[in-house]
Parts: sequence; structure tokens; C-alpha cells
Amino acid sequence: MEKETIAIHAGYNKKQGNGEMAVPISQTTAYAFRDSEHAANLFALKELGPIYTRLTNPTTDILEQRFAQLEGGAAAICTSSGQAASFFAVANVAEAGDNIIISDKLYGGSVSLFTYTCKRFGIETKIFNSDDASNLEELIDDKTKAIYFESLSNPQIAIPALEKIVEIAKKHGVLTICDNTVASAALFNPISWGVDVVVHSTSKYTSGQGTALGGIIVERDGLAEFFKANSNRYSHFTTPDESYHGLVYTDVPLPNFCLRIRLSLLRDIGATPAPFNSWLLIQTLETLGLRVDKHSDNALEVAKFLESHPKVKAVNYPGLKSNKYYDRAQKYFKNGKASGLISFDVESFEDAKKVIDSVKLFSVVVNIGDSKSLITHPASTTHSQMTEEELLKAGVNPVTVRLSIGLENPIDLIEDLTQALN
Ligand SMILES: *Cc1c(COP(=O)(O)O)cnc(C)c1O
Repeated sequence: MEKETIAIHAGYNKKQGNGEMAVPISQTTAYAFRDSEHAANLFALKELGPIYTRLTNPTTDILEQRFAQLEGGAAAICTSSGQAASFFAVANVAEAGDNIIISDKLYGGSVSLFTYTCKRFGIETKIFNSDDASNLEELIDDKTKAIYFESLSNPQIAIPALEKIVEIAKKHGVLTICDNTVASAALFNPISWGVDVVVHSTSKYTSGQGTALGGIIVERDGLAEFFKANSNRYSHFTTPDESYHGLVYTDVPLPNFCLRIRLSLLRDIGATPAPFNSWLLIQTLETLGLRVDKHSDNALEVAKFLESHPKVKAVNYPGLKSNKYYDRAQKYFKNGKASGLISFDVESFEDAKKVIDSVKLFSVVVNIGDSKSLITHPASTTHSQMTEEELLKAGVNPVTVRLSIGLENPIDLIEDLTQALN
């Protein structure tokens, strides 16, 4: 099936239940077992089915199947937020004494998760340059469990040296994890380029309307063979799990990565989505492809306008020919479309503040991927306690304004920016 069809039909059988055309919401905590044997079979994985919504839910299950197919993966598992998905993807392979290697261009929440919180759990984080991956290989050691990067990074709007990263990871038998939130499953599928695990914050383009937090993890087909071939590094998958009565994951004929998250991390930590949020995301996933195409087309028009504006000193958008990532956007993303994030520089800090305070249609919000256009100026908002020197050190340029372009008519967006830049 093609993506547009998968997003509308995959994972749901209308002939079950009452023939509901819309996917029903299973708003339940627990499920009745037929008898003691049924219960025992479910716990022993001899039979698959829901036990308790912390582990599985029929509505969430449909979203997982749909999303896994959309990303070209073998299985997916939903979490309550993107942060939980990022954490589970890493905690599924790394523990105290291990390390992970992360891109130098990552979402701020991921940076704090990996460099502060994971550090407190004894997982060390090393940083590689994702533009060229030139220092990646030298950072890998026996304790390296994952290489983590974003396909289109938020907020730098950078596209990594994908093939080189995958090649180095494969050479050393290290798992690659790609956060595909900003590019979205509609424009790009990391698994088709050799990535092992994909994570998303579904709160952004998948939701598309800023109504539901969510996260998802997708694994490629064949990870059991990968874990067996690299069993020194990934012994958790190839040796008995005492917490699940001695289960050896690579012996189970189910996609191993998501299975282990479900049976241990999701079971123990419980960052499970509400069935209603899964249902909301099922509705919005139906139009993901249409929306991301339009976000991208609108963003390209706005970026071209900004590039021609005398008060704008620089524009960063990978859909512009002048952009250093233009060739990568053309190569990797569907029809060269580059999603909805733009950043631009004005002359001074005061000018940037004036733009933020003058826009009428754009909302000043720390989010992305909404149908409503959003604008941020970290230097005067989220990072306003810092001095100019501290800002620059943190990679926050005081003259940089960021946009998440929505689905309005671009004529109105350009008109709003014209008056704000005046
Ligand atoms: C927002 C975001 C996250 C975190 O997702 P939440 O759903 O807000 O927890 C992770 N990665 C990227 C790239 C994001 O933009």
C-alpha cells in the first residue's frame, strides 16, 4: 500500500466489533480474561491480546500498526510524549556504565535528557558533528550502545550526513536511532536509508493541531539478527530477562526492540498514552501527508519572501537553493520538500524583539507543527535570563527569530511579517 492509503486504513478491521467506520476508542483500563488458561497464555506470550492498558490498548495498537507501516518498520510502540519515546529508545539498550553518542544538533529537551538525566543514571553522552560525522568513528568504544541524531533538527534546521553515520554504525555494530519528528513520516523514512530505530514526538506534525501529546518508537525488520550478531554489546536481548521469568527476546518471533520496551520499560515506568490521545492521533494521521506538503510549500514561499527582504540578514531554510543543506533535502525528502521550520536573522536584538511584539497572525509559542503559524525568539523569551555572552555560548543567537509555518494562506503570513519587519 502507498503511504496515503496506509495512513487511512492500516491496522483496522471494520468487520470486527459493530462495523464502526471510525476507529472506536477503547477507553478501558483492563480486559476480562476468558478463563485462567487464557490469562496464563497471555502472560506467557503464547497468545497475544490486551491485559492492561499500561501495556497494550486496542486503539493505541491500531495507531502503532499504522505508524509502523508508514515508516516502513516491523513494529511500533506508543508513549505518552516524545520525551518518553526518546528515553525508552535509549534506556532499552543502555544502562549504567554504557555510553551513547548524540548529534551536536538536537532538540533542547533531548539534550537535557541525555546530558543531565541519563548521566544521573550512569549513562555517559558523547557528542559528534552530524554535518559530516568526521569525529563519529573515534568516539565509538565497547560500551557504546547507540548513535542518536535527528533527520531534520529542531531548532538548527540541519540535515545530517545520514549515509556516513549509518555506514560507520554498521561497521561497528552500533544501533542507530533517528528522531524524525520535524521531517515527519510523510516526507522521510529513515529505515529505508538503513537506520535501525525511529522515534517521533507525535505532538508536532502528527497531531498537527496542538491537541495531543504523544511519542512513538518504530523498529526496522531484522533487529533480532542484529542483536545476535552483536551479542556482546546487546546481551540484554540475547540472555534471559530475570524480570520476565527468564525470557530471551531474540528467541521470540516478535519484533524485539518494541517487545522489550513493552515488557519491561513500559510495564515498569508506565509512560503510556491515554486511549483518547491515540484516537486523536489516528484522526490527524489521516491527513499528515496533505498537511506536511502544504506546510512545506507555505514555508518555501515565506522563506523566499524573507530572503528578499532588506531588513533580513540571513534565512535558514533547507528548501532554499542558497541553503547549505539544500542538496540533502532534495536527495532525502519526498519531492525535496523541507517541512515547516524557518529561522532568520535581523540586524539587532531590539529588531528581533520588535518583530515578536508586532506580529498579529503568528502566535508566540514554544511548539512546532501546528496548523497555526508560530513564532519564537528564544533570546527574549525562554532564554531571557541569560546575558548576551551566555546566550551565544548556549548557541542562542540574539538576532535569530524562528518560525513554524502553519496552514494559513501564505499571502496573509507574508503580509503579517511585512508589517512586523517594517
Ligand atoms: C518536541 C520534540 C520532542 C519532544 O516531544 P514531546 O512530545 O514534547 O515530549 C522530541 N524531539 C523533537 C525533535 C521535538 O521537536
